[in-house]
Amino acid sequence: MSIRQLPEDLINRIAAGEVVERPASVVKELVENAIDAGATRIVVTTAGGGRSLIRVEDDGAGMDRDDLVLSVERHATSKLADDGLDNIRTLGFRGEALASIGAVAHLTVAARTENAASGLRIEVDRSRKSQVLPQAMNRGTIVTVRELFAGVPARLKFLKSDRAEAAAVADVVKRLAMANPQVHFVLDGSDRSPSNWPADGELRARVMQVMGADFAENAVPLATTRHGVVVTGLAGLPTYSRANSLSQFYFVNGRSVRDKVLLGAVRAAYADFVFRDRFPAIALFLSIDPAAVDVNVHPAKAELRFRDSGGVRGAVIRAILDALGEAGYRASSTVAEDVLGAFRAPETAGAESAPIPVLGAAPSGAFGATSPATTGQGRSQTASFDGLAEPSARYEAFELPPEEDSYPLGTARAQMFENFIVAQNGDALVLVDQHAAHERLVYERFKAELAGGPVASQMQLIPVVIEFPEEDCERLEDAAPTLARLGLYLERFGPRAIAVRETPALLGQSDIDGLVKDIADGLAEWDNSEALGDRLDSIIARMACHGSVRSGRVLRVDEMNALLREMEGTPHSGQCIHGRPTYVELKKADLERMFGRTR
Ligand code: ADP
Ligand code: MG
Repeated sequence: MSIRQLPEDLINRIAAGEVVERPASVVKELVENAIDAGATRIVVTTAGGGRSLIRVEDDGAGMDRDDLVLSVERHATSKLADDGLDNIRTLGFRGEALASIGAVAHLTVAARTENAASGLRIEVDRSRKSQVLPQAMNRGTIVTVRELFAGVPARLKFLKSDRAEAAAVADVVKRLAMANPQVHFVLDGSDRSPSNWPADGELRARVMQVMGADFAENAVPLATTRHGVVVTGLAGLPTYSRANSLSQFYFVNGRSVRDKVLLGAVRAAYADFVFRDRFPAIALFLSIDPAAVDVNVHPAKAELRFRDSGGVRGAVIRAILDALGEAGYRASSTVAEDVLGAFRAPETAGAESAPIPVLGAAPSGAFGATSPATTGQGRSQTASFDGLAEPSARYEAFELPPEEDSYPLGTARAQMFENFIVAQNGDALVLVDQHAAHERLVYERFKAELAGGPVASQMQLIPVVIEFPEEDCERLEDAAPTLARLGLYLERFGPRAIAVRETPALLGQSDIDGLVKDIADGLAEWDNSEALGDRLDSIIARMACHGSVRSGRVLRVDEMNALLREMEGTPHSGQCIHGRPTYVELKKADLERMFGRTR
């Protein structure tokens, strides 16, 4: 086949594939244009998940006739005055959004400048441009997109439900609104009940409008400058972590981004405080010399490249640790980590197959590294105990009744720090994390009950009403029949609330609010990509986590022993549902070796 120059509308459709992935990407481009035009008020309206209608109206500079005609052409932009790409201060610069949208939808651009006697509009239908026509309007620009992807079946096929697309639109608008607190945002249309975020210029106020007042109450301000990177924003307290990343907002020079360096830095900063599968809520704003960051690496400009990514990472981690430190949340001491690292928990792989198969089976060599004389870890431990010249307490040994000797997890002797059960099983010391263990037990009980039909529920005396964003309410409402099988009975309660009528009996009196919020987060994360039925395990895991004995609860000896006995009879109980060990066993010989008593 010979080479041919492609016709313009085909070029535009190819470009559209990159820029215009879904309705939310159209909204992003249009709102960015409005911001670049200096708008102080932007109204976004969508219907049918953005498929049937997207309208973005602004009160910015508008366009005159010549610009209006050029604006829908490909590679036409007012934003690159010279030919450099290394000093970009506007959100747009590629000059292809309107042309691309015009290639895959019916596009109307109407605009009026300050001094014009009236407005003008141009229509583009799959790259065919109309005449410029008069249009009655105020100063600014109104872009209307209808029948998005109507002629692109391949693209339509990949769109999710209207509801999911509308949620993605809301997410995009949230991110843009947070990056631009000086702009009044209105999000409207039949896809949702309206949101109205007036501008009062304060970042904190905007964060509260978008992320909710309870985030702002559970967050600490960031303010650090390092390596030429200015980090501001709000970092959520570790206890406010969420089950998905929808509450993480990243901005670089006013541009909302998803960047691996930033994600990694946040994860690293919280690593000591937040479990691996949880996501801290955060609104992170970076200011950096535009020349030190390349924004031209992604068609939708969502990704970027830092020249000094190490410096950026360092600045972000420092900012978060400083802020959390000031709030009184400190990194756990490194000594504790060293000790934990030195004592190996039973192999979790072994614990998969049967109840407690690994007790006593750990190769004795597993603990070999704990000898203070042979490892660096051991030395640092020794050093940190230097201040203790004398034993500070006397420990009394109790004789174990011989018949209890035979339990694999031993007999409970004490509870430490209201979370760790200390047990002895003849020749070994067993430490159990009561919360982690109980979580696994509840999880397995759930699964056992579910195997025999719907899980038993208990009625709430008064329904618990919990407020949610509308998108969450919709998802919870959709999931209600599935949740009912698990003993959780929910009902829609007005546009932005859910009433909880019955809860799984297994969970007892648990934190219903936290539980339902976690499930909502999960539903948002999974979206409708998979059938909910396949997610039952994940939902049960979330329920189990909330229904478990929290650390901090004092247990009686008989309660502790009951827990140990149940662990012994439950599959997988060697690890909690997050994959962490539920207990650690130290053989007497290991203890002796640790103190250098044996060779
Ligand atoms: P880019 O934003 O990359 O320049 P677009 O295709 O999004 O490319 O827009 C092309 C041009 O149309 C812009 O450079 C700008 O001059 C003009 N334009 C687009 N939207 C607006 C708006 N809302 N207000 C004023 N001018 C606009
Ligand atoms: Mg643009």
